[in-house]
This record gives sequence, structure tokens and C-alpha cells, in this order.
Amino acid sequence: MSTKAHNFPVQIPLPIDPRTPSRLSGSRGKAASTVAALPFRGISSDVPKVGLNDICLSYRTESGERILALDHINLQVKTGEFLCIVGPSGCGKSTLLHLIAGLHQPTSGEVLVDGKEVEGPGTDRILIFQELGLFPWLTVGDNVQFGMKMKGIGKAEREEKTRYYLRLVHLSQFKDSYTHQLSGGMRQRVALARALATEPDVLLMDEPFAALDAQTRDLLHDELERIWTETGCTVVFVTHNVREAIRLGDRVALLTFRPGRVKREFPVFLPRPRSLEDPNLARAASEILGELREEINRSLEVEYSVGVKPRVEPGVRS
Ligand code: ADP
Ligand code: MG
Repeated sequence: MSTKAHNFPVQIPLPIDPRTPSRLSGSRGKAASTVAALPFRGISSDVPKVGLNDICLSYRTESGERILALDHINLQVKTGEFLCIVGPSGCGKSTLLHLIAGLHQPTSGEVLVDGKEVEGPGTDRILIFQELGLFPWLTVGDNVQFGMKMKGIGKAEREEKTRYYLRLVHLSQFKDSYTHQLSGGMRQRVALARALATEPDVLLMDEPFAALDAQTRDLLHDELERIWTETGCTVVFVTHNVREAIRLGDRVALLTFRPGRVKREFPVFLPRPRSLEDPNLARAASEILGELREEINRSLEVEYSVGVKPRVEPGVRS
């Protein structure tokens, strides 16, 4: 949670524990029958799964200046938590996920996973984005196997896990199909199965459903929530859609327009499963939307003002 005074969370309606009973006794997927006997692997208050401590990140422009993209970000994500990040375009949401994925290094501050500094990509974290990165020349099953192969998992285990995760995303019948034979929503589920099959602790999702029609998105919300409940993984989900954030998140962090700072955090106490049509959800969304609009207006002012440059930080070390 951010240490900045203005970032203290505001509670959104309904003081009901959002976690379903199955999640409270949750463990990693497969052994559904033993779930209740296993230790609680839900949201824990000990060492955060992901810690972003006083993160600044600046990019160097072609003219040699440095643009401050992220400015003193403090965010802690608990094990098993579903954190959503919203903010206007260009506020640094993707950059933040890339930092957790180990694809970028911060300019200052530290990124921790399980209390250890992130030094690069790792199979404990996986990034899913809108473009998916599925291989059109491979079947659905081979696409799912791909990440496991990279991880050095043997053939028999790969095949067993492929069957399991395709069943989890309801695509068992499409194991031998090619991705061009699937709808957008189905392709998104293949990407999800491929990511889940490597059994990451942290799922990093960058606007994964932004290009889908509303109906497919609704279905995928249900499936993602179910899979998150069953696997007990930690999710950091980026979206510019506030309703989607409240539909899915235990907490929503709102970032400011460039440079990205945590403007406010909103814990969401609505019971699960949630519906986008729920008036309580709409009410919660309108509060966040009000604050998001301020940031969007700032971004429009900057982007439509001739000669106004983004904030440059000459003093920030690279
Ligand atoms: P978001 O995902 O919220 O739209 P990004 O994280 O992609 O934002 O980008 C944050 C800011 O950093 C933007 O101003 C963007 O132009 C800038 N930026 C992102 N990647 C690079 C890069 N590789 N080089 C220079 N600037 C970048
Ligand atoms: Mg982005």
C-alpha cells in the first residue's frame, strides 16, 4: 500500500468479504478434492507477493532528455490478491507490469517478489497482453505446451497439464485446432491456458480483454475469476476500464497521468461473483471514474497543447 498520505484507501460499499468460500480454502488448482485439507493460500498479510518500493522510471528520448514515466510508486500486492491498475493512456501502466515481469529495471527504487529483488524475467511471473503472441503454425495444444517446453518440463507432464488447463478454459475439444480457426475470445483463453500451464505465482495482465466484444469479455471475466479462485495465483491486471477493474479486483489502484503516481487506492468489498449490471458496482465505478476523468483531462490538455512538453527530470539517474 502506498505510504503517501493522499493515497490512503477509500472504502467502496458493502462491507462483505469479497472472497468466496472456495477461495478462502484455496490452493493451487489441480487437487480440487484436497483443497480444504491444504493450508490457506489465499490473501496473506505477511511478506507481499509483489512489492514496488519507491519506484521511479525515466525513459531517455531521442533528444537525450529523460521523461519521467513513473514517479515514486509504492504498491504492495498480497499473495493471492487480485489487484487492478487503472489510469489514462500513457500513465505508465504497461511500464509497471514490465518492471514486475523483469523486462525493465527501475531508475530508482526496488521491485520485490517474495521479498527478493527482481533481476530479470522468471517463470514465477508471466505477462499476458492483448496481442497474445500465440504461434499460428502451432495447434492450440502445442501453443499451450510451448511455455512448459521452455521451462524444461518433460513430455508426459506437459501433455497432462495441457489437457488439464485446456479443460480449465473450456477448450478441450480444440486441442488440435489452429488459432486462426478460433474466435478472439477463444484465442484469449488459449493464451490464458498457456500462461497458467507454466503455473506462475503471479499473472500480469495488460489490458487483455480490451479488443473483445462485451459479451465475450463478460464470459472471460467469469472464467478468469474462477481460474484465479482455483489456482490461488496473484493477479496484477491493467485496464483503462473502471467497471472491469471493479468487476475483478480486490483492490483498484488509480494512477495519475504522466508521470504515473498512485493517486488513490480503492479496496472493493462487493461480494463475488460480481455483475457489471449491479448498481453497487456502477456506484463504486462512478467514484473512481470521477477521479480518472481528472487525469484524462490533464492528459488531453498536455497532448493538445502545442509546445507543452511532458515533465523532464534532468536529475533522475538512469
Ligand atoms: P500506459 O500503458 O499507461 O499507456 P506506458 O507504460 O506504455 O503507458 O508508457 C508510459 C510513458 O512512457 C508514456 O509517456 C510513453 O510514451 C513512455 N514510454 C513507454 N515506453 C517507452 C520507451 N520504450 N521509450 C520511451 N518512452 C517510453
Ligand atoms: Mg499500456
